Order: sequence, then structure tokens, then C-alpha cells
Amino acid sequence: MDFLPIFLNIKNRKILIDGGKMIAARRAQRALDAGANVNVFSEQLCDDFLPLLDNQRLTHFKRLPKEEDFKDCLIIYGASEDEKRDKFLYEMAQKYSILINVADVYKYCDFITPSILDRSPLVVAISSGGKAPIIARTLRVKLETLIPHNYGRLANFLGSFRQEIASKVKPTKNRRFFWEKLIEGTVGNSFLSGNVDRAQELLGKELDAIEFNKNKQKTGEVYLVGAGPGDPDLLTFRALRLMQYCDVVLYDRLVGDEIFPLIRRDAERINVGKRANNHTMAQEEISQLMVDLARQGKRVLRLKGGDPFLFGRGGEEIELLSENNIPFQIVPGITAATGAASYAGIPLTHRDYAQSCTFITAHGKDGALDIDWDSLMRSNQTVVIYMGLNNLQTLASGFIKHGAKLNTPVALIDNATRKNQTVIIGNMENINQKAMEANIKGPTIIIVGDVVKLRESLKWIKPYEEESEMIIKAGD
Ligand code: SAH
Repeated sequence: MDFLPIFLNIKNRKILIDGGKMIAARRAQRALDAGANVNVFSEQLCDDFLPLLDNQRLTHFKRLPKEEDFKDCLIIYGASEDEKRDKFLYEMAQKYSILINVADVYKYCDFITPSILDRSPLVVAISSGGKAPIIARTLRVKLETLIPHNYGRLANFLGSFRQEIASKVKPTKNRRFFWEKLIEGTVGNSFLSGNVDRAQELLGKELDAIEFNKNKQKTGEVYLVGAGPGDPDLLTFRALRLMQYCDVVLYDRLVGDEIFPLIRRDAERINVGKRANNHTMAQEEISQLMVDLARQGKRVLRLKGGDPFLFGRGGEEIELLSENNIPFQIVPGITAATGAASYAGIPLTHRDYAQSCTFITAHGKDGALDIDWDSLMRSNQTVVIYMGLNNLQTLASGFIKHGAKLNTPVALIDNATRKNQTVIIGNMENINQKAMEANIKGPTIIIVGDVVKLRESLKWIKPYEEESEMIIKAGD
């Protein structure tokens, strides 16, 4: 390790910045954020300084720094991009033993500025020892996606119980486990999902349990999570976190294959779509199973394709949970319609073609089609049909019978967003024939309307297709 990582308290200390461009502004911003008094020396300041100018702790000197300006300085930042000025700063730093950093001039640096991930009070600082700042920055972006945005607030929240926990949880080695349980467990999860009251209540219970030294039977929790249409990149961060945290997962055939490797390895997996005897579990059985598992204290993940609240029976699934007072969370997912539209290059609305979009299901409660045709015949609208592949011919005939033109554009997106996505473009008259020829098996989403024509003009490339094309070319 070439540098010592430390977090410096610079509150009310003097920081000197030489330069008025963007880098100088960034240094000033950070120093001000950390409570320092900042003196900036430069004839002019660029626009990046504008948000800082009202700050009482920032003083602008329209001149070069002189020797007396360095008195009592804690840190010097050089950002003038002028070798002579940098050299002078360095001499001053040496003479008065002040820490110095000159941007991009390694020989004049006592310390380097890390890439920062700010979830105050949590701060992650990353450095490549000045060798490859871009790697540090890339890593920061990766962490940015891993660490939930309100993690800092979680630290504040849990931090306020620190003393109480320290006094109640003994010996010290037990404390670590206790904290881990709070952060990773239902307390942390409730807080991160925005339910502060519940987090507080659960934390209170955890503390009571220690107080009376009794380990009460804990109640589990159910997470109703939308897994999106199949591409794992389309999962939400919260979905991923709960997938990593659950004890048992209930899934059905709509959840894409590529999602499974992301579920915690040792979580029990129950396929509620198809049972061993090939019978599909009835909705009531699934709901009852969730209640039973939660009662055993398990964290139950109910993973659903797309979004749980769009043709996903999410409402029915939570009814029984709520009747039985089982705590639950609902996590939205990208629904098949929007996933398919994006990955097929068909905007669902467009100023010239469609001002509205209607989502319907072709699956009535008793298997019969239950469609309000008149509402679908309005012009300038896109119609997206879920669960329509098996009834495709009936649907197309229905559209035509109710006045749709034979050449009304229709798109079928089969296995949308997945590696085996297939897009079939046709019209009311020929779409069924085309679907049969392509022998698609579903899941398939159907998009009806003039927006389908845009696919051609947009020349859309599904994510990653371009990359694989490039790889092939590189191989040549
Ligand atoms: N809750 C889900 C929809 C469940 S209904 C969601 O929000 O997406 C099941 C129907 O969704 C399927 O019959 C099909 O029409 C559509 N569907 C789900 N996943 C799909 C996918 N990857 N590609 C195309 N259609 C899909």
C-alpha cells in the first residue's frame, strides 16, 4: 500500500485552492461539504463555482496566492494547470509542512483524492494509488449500483440505537451478530423499503427479546417480487436484494431461466407452477403455502414474471397474507409489455401514431374471451394483449369483425428480452399464419397498432446484439 487511507476532520480548517476551473470547483465543493473554510485564488472563476458562491465559508481572491496566504493552512490544492504556480505551491507546502495535492502532477502530491461514493454518513473512498483513476471511478459506479441509496439513512437510523445496543448486547462478540441481523434482516429491509415505523417496531422487539432473554417464535415475512420479463439486467435492486436474502422461493414458469442463478444458493425452491404430478397449484393453495411458510418464521420470496400487479394475481396473493397478519412487501417489476416494446424497438406511444395504450388480457376468468371491442377500436391507440397466443386467430377475427382493417399492423414478441426473443411482424390478416410458421410457444405479447411500423424505421438493435456482432467482426 503506497498511501495511508484516512478520513480527515477539516471542519473550520483553512484550505487553499489555486485555480478557478472545474477541478478547482470540485475540490472546493468537497472541502466545503466537509465543513472547511476555503480560500480560492484565481483571476476568474468558471461557472462550476456558481452554486458555491453564496457559501459564507468560501472566499475568492482575484489574485495569485502569496506566502502569507499559506499560514495556518491544512491543505493546499493546486488546480491552475500552470507549472510555475504549481512549483511555488509545492515550495510553500514544504516550507510550512502543509499537505498538498496538485491535480495530475504526481510529483507535487502528498496525497491523492479518491473516488467517492457518498451515502453520508457512510462514505466509500476508492483509490488506485494514482495509477489508474479511471479504474477507481469504474469501481465506484459498480458500487453505486450495489449499495442502496438510503443506506446512509439506515446507518443514521441504526446508529441512533448504538448505545442502547452496546449496553444490552453482551459480550462484545455477540454484538457483531446482532448488528448483522439488524442490517441484513427484517429491520434493515423494512427501513430500506421505506417502512420506517415497522423497522422501528421490529427493532424494539429485537431489543425486548434480549432484555427478557427469551427467544420468541419469530414471524417470517413474504416478499411479492416482480422478476421482469426475463433479462436479469431488468431486475430492480430491491428484487435482487430480497432474492439474496430469502429462505424459500415460490416461482412459476413465467420467471426467466437466467433469473435463478441470482437467488441465494441455499434457499429452498418450490415450483408452484407445476407440481410433480403435473398439476398446477391453485391460487388458494399458493396463498396458504405462503402463510404456512411465513408462520414457520421463514422469509418467503414469491417471485413473479413481469410485475406482480399486472395480470399477475398479486392482489389475490396478498389477500390471505393480510387476513392472517403476515407482514409482506411488494416489489414492482418491468412488465412484459414495456420490456417487449423496448427490446423489439416498438414505442408504445408516439405523437404521430398513438396517444394512448391499452393493456388487455385475452384470458377471461373461465377461459372465455371477455373483451370490450368498442374501446379497442378507437383510433390513435396501441393495444397490448397478454396471454393471447393461444387465441390469436379468434382475436384477429374479432378485431376484423369489429371494424379493424386487414392491414392493421400486429407484432408478436415471443420470449421478450430473453436470449431466444423472437419478433414476428404481420397484420390482422396474416399474423396467425406467420405465428404458426414460426412455431412460437410463448410467452408471447401481442402489440396491435400503427406504432408497430416504427420498428422498421428505428432499426432497433436489441441490447447486446451489437456487442456480439462486434465480437464476430473482431474474430474475422
Ligand atoms: N405479470 C406479468 C404478466 C403475467 S400474464 C407481467 O407483468 O408481465 C402472462 C402473460 O404475460 C403471458 O401469456 C405473455 O402474454 C406475457 N409475458 C410474460 N412474460 C413474457 C415474455 N418474456 N415475453 C413475452 N410475453 C410475456
